[in-house]
Amino acid sequence: MKIALIAHDKKKEDLIRFVTAYKDIFERHELFATGTTGMLISQEVSLPVHRFKSGPLGGDQEIGAMIARNEMDMVIFFRDPLTPQPHEPDVTALIRLADVYAVPLATNMGTAEVLILGLKNGYMAWRDIEHEQGGTDGE
Ligand code: PGA
Repeated sequence: MKIALIAHDKKKEDLIRFVTAYKDIFERHELFATGTTGMLISQEVSLPVHRFKSGPLGGDQEIGAMIARNEMDMVIFFRDPLTPQPHEPDVTALIRLADVYAVPLATNMGTAEVLILGLKNGYMAWRDIEHEQGGTDGE
């Protein structure tokens, strides 16, 4: 599965701890991330990550484009709801696209934990079936 990982600055430490805790699951999947988040994951957790631009410079939109092409299977996005973000419209757009294409999205650690354990237990198999059938293109 292709998994996108994004964390706002004050949540980056939490995401690193989360990815470290579930490294045995994450290492079996293809990871994508916004610039700084991806750099930290590869440095601190030693997992290969495809890095997009930093979030404020368009990274969220790059991940959104993958969702729109049905190329992303899950998004884990540790948002900081207490700090204004210069790229709030991009954040909203990313979450919207995940809803358009019914891509599982977690915006906090509690939900992320359920998603990742669901992934481990095979509850994401429907994404494979969708890929085999050419996916839902939203049209
Ligand atoms: P960053 O972007 O990983 O480059 O910090 C995350 C974001 O703020 O959307």
